[in-house]
Amino acid sequence: MRIAVGGFMHESHSFAPRPTRYIDFVQPGGFPKLTVGQPIFAAVKGTSVPIAGAIEQAEAIGNIDLVPLAWCFANPAGPVQDEAFERITALMLAELSKALDAGPLDGIYLDLHGAAVADSFPDMEGEILRRVRAIVGDLPVTISLDPHCNLTAEMVERCDALVPFRTYPHVDMRAAGSQAMALLVERIRRGTPWARAFRQVDFFIALPMQCTMVAPMAPVLDERARLNTAAGVAEVAFCFGFPYADFKDCGVALAAYAETQAQADAAVDALKAFIDTREASFAGAVLPAEEAVAEAIKLSRGAKKPIVIADTQDNPGAGGHGDTTGMLSELIRQKAEGAILALINDDESAAACHAAGAGATVALSLGGKSDGVPIAVTAKVLKLTDGKFVGTGPMAKGNYADLGPSALIECGGVKVIVVSRKMQALDQSLIRHVGIEPGECRIIVLKSSVHFRADYQPIAEAVLVGAAPGPAVADPAELPFKNLRPGLRLRPMSNRVS
Ligand SMILES: [Zn+2]
Repeated sequence: MRIAVGGFMHESHSFAPRPTRYIDFVQPGGFPKLTVGQPIFAAVKGTSVPIAGAIEQAEAIGNIDLVPLAWCFANPAGPVQDEAFERITALMLAELSKALDAGPLDGIYLDLHGAAVADSFPDMEGEILRRVRAIVGDLPVTISLDPHCNLTAEMVERCDALVPFRTYPHVDMRAAGSQAMALLVERIRRGTPWARAFRQVDFFIALPMQCTMVAPMAPVLDERARLNTAAGVAEVAFCFGFPYADFKDCGVALAAYAETQAQADAAVDALKAFIDTREASFAGAVLPAEEAVAEAIKLSRGAKKPIVIADTQDNPGAGGHGDTTGMLSELIRQKAEGAILALINDDESAAACHAAGAGATVALSLGGKSDGVPIAVTAKVLKLTDGKFVGTGPMAKGNYADLGPSALIECGGVKVIVVSRKMQALDQSLIRHVGIEPGECRIIVLKSSVHFRADYQPIAEAVLVGAAPGPAVADPAELPFKNLRPGLRLRPMSNRVS
């Protein structure tokens, strides 16, 4: 059996301050870089990305000749510039063409995100699959997806099965890749395609409410798993949506692949009904920055473990630049001594710290490069690093991070990790690499919405979700959408239609 594998992953935020460029795929913080052909195997080996799981599954099945195309990832930000989309897609398709020159293929697995928007293609994955289909016709194709995908009917139609991760924090990325490969082999062996069904849910679920470790999401995932065991069903996919993409298919969606159309329809209809009847439970609130910091200070008195605050609206994993200063200002104003902020993405300030040297005092215009709201601080440089470390937590174990020149500084009694390239603060190794043990901190503020919970919830006395100004708004209804589909509600239980 001869199977081509590749991937092109991006989560695009239509209103994020910075576009996603070609260079962002060449230099992604915390993930393997854009790789073409044979070096893909070494680049992803031992990492948590889905294609690593797909490759392992193919090796476990045996007698599969894998043909690597191209694979890349960039951190969430604004839409993918056309130049990046066209260059990377061309790389992937050129490798596919070469693979076909060498002999017939039996199938293709692609590691896609599902929430990518290119300047000219709001459904970027749908366009990638259209181009692949234009070359290979009805050859079996399966994909894995991030459940933050904004699934479209075109994506469902253009692949033979799709498998989103089941968890957020995403601790099963490899498992999804593995399952997509297993389904691909099953599809090749059976010879005929599965029937498929697609449904959209009519309200957004905000990111802080999407955590699958707790209700209301945990019961939906349990129901998904139950429905997946029904007779004839190959896959029931629950996609949570990424509610920051301004196009008609943004939002929560479901898909099923099964022996018969009736089985596929029954699975998605049952899951949609399960979600719809629980709509009210998906509404939730976050604390304004001022309240989050005050509450953390209060809780930290007498606490044995850290109080963790998620600075959710500047989550670099959802389009934030990782440099807003609203939470830092509150920490300093309220004298949150013993607090650490991970991180501020500001290469100019990191360079100034390196120029001054460890132990020096520097005046910085810190952060705020993306939104024009820096904070003027006089900081002591406690430690300098090269920003290189390897992830240790459930989501990033084995992933190599390279955040460029970095520094640990202290200003107003608050410690801040300053880096030169952004990364979601989801792994304890980010704090350990500057010489601090996270479990010994009083208050930890993380640029993350939910992913941090996998590694930090076990060491936290309490977790608070705070909202300081930033692009990854906790309430998508605040965004100036123009292109959503009629009838879609931007909050659960709201009457507002776009
Ligand atoms: Zn995701």
